[in-house]
Amino acid sequence: MPEKMTTVAEETNPYQNALRQLENVARVLNLDDSIHGVLQKPKRELTVHFPVSMDGGGTRMFTGYRVQHNTGRGPAKGGLRFHPDTDLDEVRALAMWMTWKCALVNIPFGGAKGGVVCDPKSLSPAELEDLTRRYTTEISPLIGPDADIPAPDVGTNGQIMAWIMDTYSMHRGHTVPAVVTGKPVSIGGSEGRLDATGLGVVLVTEEALKRRRETLDAQRVVVQGFGNVGGAAARYFHRHGARVVAVSDVRGGIHNPQGLDVPALVSHAARSGSVLGFPGSDPISGAALLELPCDILVPAALQGQITRANADKIQACMVVEGANGPTTPDADLILRERGIEVVPDVLANAGGVTVSYFEWVQDLQSFFWTEEEVNQRLARILSRASAEVWAAAETHKTDLRTAAYAVGVGRVAEAIRIRGIYP
Ligand code: GLU
Repeated sequence: MPEKMTTVAEETNPYQNALRQLENVARVLNLDDSIHGVLQKPKRELTVHFPVSMDGGGTRMFTGYRVQHNTGRGPAKGGLRFHPDTDLDEVRALAMWMTWKCALVNIPFGGAKGGVVCDPKSLSPAELEDLTRRYTTEISPLIGPDADIPAPDVGTNGQIMAWIMDTYSMHRGHTVPAVVTGKPVSIGGSEGRLDATGLGVVLVTEEALKRRRETLDAQRVVVQGFGNVGGAAARYFHRHGARVVAVSDVRGGIHNPQGLDVPALVSHAARSGSVLGFPGSDPISGAALLELPCDILVPAALQGQITRANADKIQACMVVEGANGPTTPDADLILRERGIEVVPDVLANAGGVTVSYFEWVQDLQSFFWTEEEVNQRLARILSRASAEVWAAAETHKTDLRTAAYAVGVGRVAEAIRIRGIYP
């Protein structure tokens, strides 16, 4: 049955998109109505409003969220986003995608996400620390190593995870490293976690190319976003033989069809705060960057970047979703019709949460692995999950997103079924 197009307002609402993807998969899996009903709603949603003392004197009120979508397969797991535009529907969608992602890579977690409406770049370090500690306190009834384990996402990092871990530990009266992942290695973080999402993007791209009997060698790659995901992905693409021809950050993009010297670009961006002005590159707008001719397009910034407004202008052979939800369902339909393969977020960016799982396991056991052990285990999990996605695409005769979500949703549905409905 063909899917119908949505209004513009609907197209840009991530939760509506997540529900539409779920509906699509429910049809493919012939999912039981009552289980579909459970999966459509987040299990728990907490909204908090809290004051933070500002450097100039006085306090400012902030709003934050923590949403646990589903815990059928284990504790809720998912990142924490600091962004001025975040809202409850965005956090709901991101939490739902975490449920499918954890199930797809078969790690024993449910899905969650958190958000604080703020611009972290406009806050001083002291304000950022106070905001993080107060938000942690406000959501502390929900989080814990057996309950809900936050991690970095857009606008947050290892330092913020360290403050969360410290605040939670101070409340408990003893150190609880496993309450959060993505921590610095010095306080129980895992080797390899920082690069895991970006490395995972590259490993999954190699898995996709393998199915076409191709390698990364000389493939032209465009990366939108040069943060923790896009920056690391660009480095590993370059290291694995691909030609990174364009990248962008929030300030704009740069382009060189011959390929960018990524290690030099990383130093330039670290020094100047942006990729802009990199010697030997031409400036390009963020929107035009998505429409460049290339082999592999990696949206690694925010959701809702490839929409029905630009999907027919994408010139890549393959889209690999480093970000969560960068392609809307309308755009998915257009790309599918045009024969552009989309490697979906829940597989492409699952390296991050997979190594978060390793970090949690290491913390619980107080027994730590080498980076080599971490990366070997990561590659094994992503290779297995990739095989399952391509097999499901074959079985259900669907695109890769539907296939990946079918594997993930199917595992969650089975957990709900076998546990039964309480009471
Ligand atoms: N924020 C990342 C994601 O969207 C990582 C989540 C985690 O490690 O828990 O997958």
